[in-house]
Amino acid sequence: MEIIRKVLFQIFIFMKRRFDKILSFAYYIKKEKLNPKNIYRMYKARGQIKSLNLFDEDYYLNEYSDVRNSDINPLDHYIYHGWMEGRTPSKLFDGDYYLERNPDVKESKVNPLVHYVLYGKEEGRFPNHHAKINSPHIINKKLQRRIKNLEKSLSQSNNYLQNMKEEIEENNQLHRTEIENFEKKLNLINSVLHDVIEGYNKKKLCPTCDTEIIAFLPFGVNPRPNAQCPNCGSLERHRATYIFLKENTSIFKENIKLLHLAPEKIFYDIFRNQENINYLTADLNDKPPRVMEKMDIQDIQYPDNTFDFIYCSHVLEHVPDDRKALDELYRVLKPNGKAIFLVPLDRSIDKTLEDPSYNTPALRLKHYAQSDHLRLYGPDFTNRLEDVGFKILTDHIEFSEDMDKEDLKRYGIDKGITFFYCVKPG
Ligand SMILES: [Zn+2]
Repeated sequence: MEIIRKVLFQIFIFMKRRFDKILSFAYYIKKEKLNPKNIYRMYKARGQIKSLNLFDEDYYLNEYSDVRNSDINPLDHYIYHGWMEGRTPSKLFDGDYYLERNPDVKESKVNPLVHYVLYGKEEGRFPNHHAKINSPHIINKKLQRRIKNLEKSLSQSNNYLQNMKEEIEENNQLHRTEIENFEKKLNLINSVLHDVIEGYNKKKLCPTCDTEIIAFLPFGVNPRPNAQCPNCGSLERHRATYIFLKENTSIFKENIKLLHLAPEKIFYDIFRNQENINYLTADLNDKPPRVMEKMDIQDIQYPDNTFDFIYCSHVLEHVPDDRKALDELYRVLKPNGKAIFLVPLDRSIDKTLEDPSYNTPALRLKHYAQSDHLRLYGPDFTNRLEDVGFKILTDHIEFSEDMDKEDLKRYGIDKGITFFYCVKPG
């Protein structure tokens, strides 16, 4: 008996569902006024709403008692009446939001949920506010905006840092310049003080640039006072040589062809402006504009008897074979031509110090007093000059005989300068 009742009940449920479906379909036919296209469209939408779970029957019936108490199918109710009354089909779809965000749908007076399942979903429209803010597109947009803001603040920070850096560098530069200026003043005071101690209080005159100055600046690793002209940079040896050349040679008087090796700026500026001088400068390294020609003085590219005068200051101590170089310089000098040689020379040693085992900058500095010197000349340097044929006219400048002591102080050359003025006998 019980089984029969159960079977009958199942049949009843089945029949009711079929009946409901038929009823529902009849309802659509009626609502769509027998228009097959519209009936099909609405029925398709109905199926989609169901399969997407966008209509929550329990929720709907619970929310709206009038629907609960009527016979109409709750989904059909929403499709044809509920949406117009502003009712909500489920928590997943917000009709008001959808119509608000999509004015075209609102205007067409189509059920927003029907529109969503048939077209809106495909077109990327959102069923509710929550879905919108969680959509990958919006999240991506938000992230991009955040990255942009971060980039902006990063670039602002960078600019700020760059400005700070520039400001600091500017300050440093200012301080450096201030310190340099202060050092210059100190140096000047140092030289002036030295003079005061020595009882000399007159102004100085640099003979090479013909400028009157308060004092020559200290110069050297262990700075010696009254050494460097603050205007042209000349040192004692430059000023002494210049006076010697002016007073004792024909270099500024006759028309001569002059070869100037490793040209120092002070004499380059003087020689090149002399109309009587046919001027050639040369160096082992090409360093224009001062160096006009590259030249290895161990193998000079000029014929015999080319030059009237050779000026060679602080060069030979750097040349590997200085005897070969002297031989070459002698060769290219005209008979009766003159040459001036300046080299660092130590009168306290008997013989020139030259040892091939001193072959590192450190060893050379230790034994020759400079890391790029290849020997330390002693008084026997004169032998090397005479060996190639030079006749030494004088081997030092000592002005004290024919120049006032006061003048020597004034020119900042109050000590003897060793140098070699030679002639190639005619
Ligand atoms: Zn000067």
